[in-house]
Amino acid sequence: MSLTRKRILVTGGAGFLGSHLCERLLRDGHDVLCVDNYFTGRKDNILHLMEHPHFEVMRHDVTWPLYVEVDEIFNLACPASPVHYQFDPVQTTKTSVIGAINMLGLAKRVGAKIMQASTSEVYGDPTVHPQTEEYRGNVNPLGPRACYDEGKRCAETLFFDYYRQHKTAIKVARIFNTYGPRMHPNDGRVVSNFIVQALRGEDITLYGDGMQTRAFCYVDDLIEGFIRLMATGPEVTGPINIGNPHEIPVRELAERVIALTGARSKIVHRPLPQDDPLQRCPDISMARSVLGWEPKVDLETGLTRATAYFRQLLADSGQIADR
Ligand code: NAD
Ligand code: UDP
Repeated sequence: MSLTRKRILVTGGAGFLGSHLCERLLRDGHDVLCVDNYFTGRKDNILHLMEHPHFEVMRHDVTWPLYVEVDEIFNLACPASPVHYQFDPVQTTKTSVIGAINMLGLAKRVGAKIMQASTSEVYGDPTVHPQTEEYRGNVNPLGPRACYDEGKRCAETLFFDYYRQHKTAIKVARIFNTYGPRMHPNDGRVVSNFIVQALRGEDITLYGDGMQTRAFCYVDDLIEGFIRLMATGPEVTGPINIGNPHEIPVRELAERVIALTGARSKIVHRPLPQDDPLQRCPDISMARSVLGWEPKVDLETGLTRATAYFRQLLADSGQIADR
């Protein structure tokens, strides 16, 4: 057994980001315990890891206590797409808040380091642009996104209370829009929606006038940020923004996806959902200086890889002709 092999728990490990993280941790020589209730995650995302001798999967809901022995915890369990987290908003808040309490309790008991997958949504519809970590945000606590935004904000509070009260070794990553292979094809997020619509030759659904902005990070870059953050000493707690600062209007994303796929899809407008942030872009100065990290994969390359994934997925399920 390797002397540097750690026992690492990934909650939400069968999801989009979780499955890439499990893969990376196994590649780095660790023992990985993937915990998931399969609400938005899929066994297909981790099927290729099942035979790995250092990979273990447990069906479990993080709103219930978990008793395992591990050295590190990445707490990713929580639906991330607005469509999914608004489907059962009470369960979303429970997952963020009770899930954080359970995982922090576990970290405290076994003395594990723990990283929280927090989100740019803690900034709400931001009045400071680009968003720095000091910005306290502009979240509507009563709207349809609040179950997610306030759940994640409360989870951050719990992380810092465990840090102050119990000296738990915490890390809080604020993740900005991330995309790539293994996003759920029906998960409703903009990159997967646009690519899947384009590949099926359907209309591209642009919400509002499409002038709202986002900055899209490719999944491999994000995972590298997670690994670097977890490797830091106890003085680094975050919160720390991890995302790609290349900001574009959502309309431009639609146009780029149409050009990239060669689709004949038309852009059709749908109403802008309530509380949809008008602009979002990370200030990653802290990630650059503390982690020596910045994204490497540009949008064209990332979209090309994501498109290849969705093309194969849709071809395998007979939804488009294989080309
Ligand atoms: P995802 O929906 O693909 O993954 C979430 C995983 O958590 C799924 O496998 C789901 O089944 C599991 N899960 C949900 N509730 C659970 C529960 N109660 N118990 C156990 N497992 C549960 O989403 P993702 O994009 O991989 O996001 C992972 C994490 O990163 C989430 O916490 C999300 O809030 C955060 N995040 C993601 C993004 C992004 O752009 N992808 C941005 C900001 C934050
Ligand atoms: N969006 C869109 N069409 C879609 C899905 C999303 O225009 O089919 C917009 C959405 O209104 C938002 C942006 O794309 O302005 C990003 O949405 P997503 O759900 O991916 O993530 P968010 O950043 O809003 O959490």
